Amino acid sequence: MLYDIIIIGGGPAGLTAGIYTSRAKTKSLLIEKAFPGGQVTTTEWIENYPGFDEGVSGIDLSERMERQAKRFGLEIIQGTVKEISLHDRIKKIILEEDHVYEAKSIIICVGANPRPLKIEGEAKYRGRGVSYCATCDGAFFKGKKISVIGGGNSAIQEAIFLTKFAEVVYVVHRRDELRAEKIIQERAFSNPKIKFIWNSVAEKIDGTDTVNTLFLKDVKTGETSKIDVEGIFIYVGYNPNTEFLKGLVRLDENNYIITDDKMCTSVPGIFAAGDVRANAIKQIARAVGDGATSAISAEKYIEENF
Ligand code: NAP
Repeated sequence: MLYDIIIIGGGPAGLTAGIYTSRAKTKSLLIEKAFPGGQVTTTEWIENYPGFDEGVSGIDLSERMERQAKRFGLEIIQGTVKEISLHDRIKKIILEEDHVYEAKSIIICVGANPRPLKIEGEAKYRGRGVSYCATCDGAFFKGKKISVIGGGNSAIQEAIFLTKFAEVVYVVHRRDELRAEKIIQERAFSNPKIKFIWNSVAEKIDGTDTVNTLFLKDVKTGETSKIDVEGIFIYVGYNPNTEFLKGLVRLDENNYIITDDKMCTSVPGIFAAGDVRANAIKQIARAVGDGATSAISAEKYIEENF
């Protein structure tokens, strides 16, 4: 079946693109591998998205965006894109489930996934104490000692959230200064349940059936130590989900998609929006702006080329 626009990925960028394309009465389909919302659904509480003066939960915000898009007729299906091939001006999207969809234009909004630390024990204990999602797993650690690794907005915001459950949250950061915004830092510094372990990296995770020990190294002195924790939340950045695009559109050295300010990629008719774009600030407000721009660019491309 030939669509005007197929959007791949259902986070804020993809859903916003869908609101615009379906409202413009183009035949649009959004393909999402899990459920709409993307990384936003793993964020407990969002305070810096305009229009919600008291804040909004990540799940609530994404459900609202999805309902809004569907109200204008956006078709949403579940599927994982395996490959995109180009046939003159028509683009073929092949799913892992082997279904094939055709589109005049594509908007890629596949975002990025949490980056693993790649240390011993991390993969073994994933789901058994090691987590990348405080919203999903925080409640398992009521009254326990846990650790958060990283010093960015994600790590510190989620460390604060985890104090709702945990007795102590050790934040392990490789420098002696946080990357997180000042307002988030101040909240963390004044939270008595958060203890900072500076200039330190995680070297190994150990346990029995589940995690019980995190091994650390002081990067300044080289000294090693260990802490007893039952949960370890890893927030050390993200990797873009662009594996299936290699050789199709231009990527930067970190595999993010290079676009211009109209969200055009190196292939005419293929656009990208949101966290998957190179050099983009990872904020919901920016992702929705990207989504709107990409939809308008895709509509213009179709008008001019079909
Ligand atoms: P990030 O800003 O890239 O921070 C990653 C953190 O992990 C940094 O502190 C980094 O240390 C550390 N790190 C990286 N690799 C490491 C390694 N191998 N071992 C130990 N530590 C390592 O990532 P993020 O916090 O996930 O945020 C991603 C983006 O989303 C950012 O642009 C952020 O502003 C945005 N975000 C915004 C909000 C909000 O506005 N409230 C919330 C969440 C995320 P260094 O500092 O030493 O590099």
